[in-house]
Amino acid sequence: MTMKVALIAHDRKKEEMVNFVTAYETVFAKCQLFATGTTGTRIMENTDLSVHRFMSGPLGGDQQIGAMVATNDLDLIVFLRDPLMAQPHEPDIIALLRLCDVQGIPVATNIATAEILVKAMDRGDFAWRELVHKYKPGVDE
Ligand code: PGA
Repeated sequence: MTMKVALIAHDRKKEEMVNFVTAYETVFAKCQLFATGTTGTRIMENTDLSVHRFMSGPLGGDQQIGAMVATNDLDLIVFLRDPLMAQPHEPDIIALLRLCDVQGIPVATNIATAEILVKAMDRGDFAWRELVHKYKPGVDE
C-alpha cells in the first residue's frame, strides 16, 4: 500500500525540511505526498517529487491536512514547527496535532523523530496502517 505522508514546515524550518526530504527522496518517492502551500513548492523546486499542495498554513492549509487526519487518511505527518516563534495560526496547529492524537497517527514535530519514523516506514513498520485503511469506518459512522 502506498503510504500517504503530509509535510509541513514553518518558515525557519523550511530549509531543514528540504534537506530532510532530499536525503530521503528515494523513500518519499514511494509515497503519496501532501504539503502546505509553500512547503510543497519548496520541496518540488528542490527534488523530483510530486506533492499535492494545500493552502499555505496560515491561510488554512493545516486545517485541510487536519481534515485528512480526521478521516484517518494520512499515515505519517512530518510537521517541523518553529518552537521559537509565535504563529498567527497557532490554534490550527494545536488542532491538527490534537486530531493526530485522536486517531493515533504517527506525527513528528522535530527532525530527530522524523528520521526515526521515516526509516521505520521504509522498513515496513507501518504495515498496521493497511489495516486502518481496510477497516476504517465510513465518515458517517
Ligand atoms: P506553508 O505553511 O508551507 O505554506 O508555509 C506552513 C506554515 O507556515 O504553517
